[in-house]
Amino acid sequence: MATKQPQLQQGSGAGLTTAAAAAAAAARAPLRPANRGPSNPAPPPAAAAAATTKAAPAPAAAAPSSKPAPSGRRAWTLDDFDVGRPLGRGKFGAVYLARERGSGFVVALKVLHKQQLAASRVEHQLRREVEIQSHLRHPNVLRLFGYFHDRERVFLILEYAAKGELYKELQRAGRFSEQRAATHVAALAGALAYCHAKHVFHRDIKPENLLVGLSGQVKIADFGWSVHAPSGRRRTLCGTLDYLPPEMVEGREHGPGVDVWGLGVLAYEFLFGGPPFEAAGHQETYRRIVRVDLRFPGEEPPQQQQAGAAAGGAGGGGGAGGAAAAAGGGAAAAGGSASAAARDFVRAMLRRDPASRLPLDEVCEHPWIVANADAAVLQLAQQQAACRRAAAAAAGAVGAAGVTGAAGAGA
Ligand code: AMP
Repeated sequence: MATKQPQLQQGSGAGLTTAAAAAAAAARAPLRPANRGPSNPAPPPAAAAAATTKAAPAPAAAAPSSKPAPSGRRAWTLDDFDVGRPLGRGKFGAVYLARERGSGFVVALKVLHKQQLAASRVEHQLRREVEIQSHLRHPNVLRLFGYFHDRERVFLILEYAAKGELYKELQRAGRFSEQRAATHVAALAGALAYCHAKHVFHRDIKPENLLVGLSGQVKIADFGWSVHAPSGRRRTLCGTLDYLPPEMVEGREHGPGVDVWGLGVLAYEFLFGGPPFEAAGHQETYRRIVRVDLRFPGEEPPQQQQAGAAAGGAGGGGGAGGAAAAAGGGAAAAGGSASAAARDFVRAMLRRDPASRLPLDEVCEHPWIVANADAAVLQLAQQQAACRRAAAAAAGAVGAAGVTGAAGAGA
């Protein structure tokens, strides 16, 4: 794909004006329900003190775009697209179905209003999101093909996820079967491990940030809180209240373990229909998170969960132990319960000590995942994990031999 410099002059805007008018008429309420934590909740006292707003340095201009299909032109403009129906509305604008005229390639065109971006001071965050997402290539990460802008708007050219938001499907279903939950978790673990190999931490894993492709494949869609942190450690408080890990709530340094925790919370929400540490107020939620007050519906008395394991924090990323026998259960969560293997998996992810959480590349080996995930998804996840391990081993061997310039893992 040819890469291009950003389009700096104003686009014609004609097609969009028509679509925008239609969208305005059909505008719907914000999609996030009021009872869920905001994407950027007020920090708890401990975290507020430690939080910084610094981000990984982004280039002065966002990454040059690359076209979804070659058409030989140097820069995108709105004239390159037939803009169709609105797909949804976000905080800073709307998303439309669109087709690139030259190739007929169908995309989702996200339109963001510069004034609103500036008023909320998120231009830097958007730049970082574009820079990060445009460099990621994974079947479970939504592609960002490119971007352009005119005087008032920024346009992001995104992969079209035909089945829309996963969150809506979860709301409709109440909760997912263990097969579906395990399939999504296996795919997402692979996608996050791929991101981590590129030193990108997502930090805001939740159903609202996941879209679903035509064949039902889950796609990580929102990199608004992601960070490229080659050093591996950050202190910024971000993400969504219910999904914050203890280290972020306490304002401690955090790294890739944040996404492991997020995936564990997500698995719980898939299985039981709500996040595990939900409470009446923010402070009580924070308290439950810090104590890893993990309870499973129907489990009496409340699970004393892995307090011991958490406090000990020893050992690597195990956690699959003892679950094998129960893994065959595999039945859909019914009556608010889940198999012993599913609960074992969630516990292995939600450990207080980030170092003792199940490593992402071991997720596809966990008995619950093995017994329940779709065979094709599982096979792909296992292959990718094996490749990453081999690449890491090779890089280690090269490093040990004193040779520089080893190839990065997971490219
Ligand atoms: P956002 O501004 O990213 O929150 O997007 C607003 C809404 O538009 C989402 O909640 C989805 O329903 C829809 N949407 C966003 N991106 C896409 C996409 N790539 N494919 C399909 N629908 C999308």
